[in-house]
Amino acid sequence: MTEQHRPDEGRILVVGSVNVDLVLGVPRHPEPGETLAGTGSRRSPGGKGANQACAAALLGGDVRFAGRTGAGPDADLALALLRDAEVDLTATKEVPAEETGLAVVTVDEAGENSIVIIAGANGSWSAQDVKSLRAAVKASDLVVSQGEIPAAAVDQLALLCAETGTRFLLNLAPVIEVGAGTLATADPLVVNESEGRLALTALTGTDAPDAPDAPDAPDDDAATVRGLRDAGVPSVVMTRGARGAILATDAEFAEVSSPKVHAVDTTGAGDAFVGALAVGLARGESAADACRRAVRVGAFAVTRHGAQPSYPSRQDELPQ
Ligand code: ATP
Repeated sequence: MTEQHRPDEGRILVVGSVNVDLVLGVPRHPEPGETLAGTGSRRSPGGKGANQACAAALLGGDVRFAGRTGAGPDADLALALLRDAEVDLTATKEVPAEETGLAVVTVDEAGENSIVIIAGANGSWSAQDVKSLRAAVKASDLVVSQGEIPAAAVDQLALLCAETGTRFLLNLAPVIEVGAGTLATADPLVVNESEGRLALTALTGTDAPDAPDAPDAPDDDAATVRGLRDAGVPSVVMTRGARGAILATDAEFAEVSSPKVHAVDTTGAGDAFVGALAVGLARGESAADACRRAVRVGAFAVTRHGAQPSYPSRQDELPQ
């Protein structure tokens, strides 16, 4: 892919969103029609695709990122930490007619957030754009995508992976209406608890084994994961915040617990997990080994503020 390729690392292609996150501190969330004085603001790089590419590269992965930005300073900010992490950006393009994706994140004093996302250039991905990535897909050991680009693009990417025999990790966050064939190609499908339930409902047309008043019931999560496998998903990883993750493959069904840490900001923890999982899988590790490192990387990320700035590099000691 590039002369910087590290032969002991598998090649990872991340196709997905890249945003500027505008984070606003507020004493409380405003009522409709209300004007409220905020306590501060900061702008930082974000977007699930970019976050996952950044996490994987910081851990030593050989990562190429295919994203879409607008032109100008927002694009520079959105890509800054990917450049620092030496992510290959040759497949990332400016779409001058569009704005760079924007996430406005409002965080109150209790740490509760609400988020509005403007897709901007991320929404401009077409199936045709994805077709132009065929050579990059073929040259990769693992392709990674998420739900922040149009479903038609994700479906096309899954098709390319199937055609070229390239492993496909799909993080269905948020849950979008991808085709059943896409879910049947996801190895693994990575979801959190609520995404897992939505994905199962979408796939089977029936209610997931969900008890909305008891979302933490572990049996519901296990049943959801089993249901996704029964519906034809090759392997499933469900992340469960402080409780770690569930992994289900043909070979095993395992609960992987997360180290206990003092969490200060969970923003982007799921993306840190996915980036770490991708590095392990691309290196040829078992899914179980890759998950065991990924929960530790997720736990590391919640002990620091922000998304990309909270991710560990190879030198950092991960919590046990
Ligand atoms: P987000 O949308 O905030 O990125 P998510 O719902 O996609 O989150 P989570 O399941 O919350 O993802 O977290 C991903 C991983 O991060 C978990 O599997 C776990 O390893 C780690 N993690 C998250 N929260 C905590 C916590 N409070 N303590 C320890 N580890 C955590």
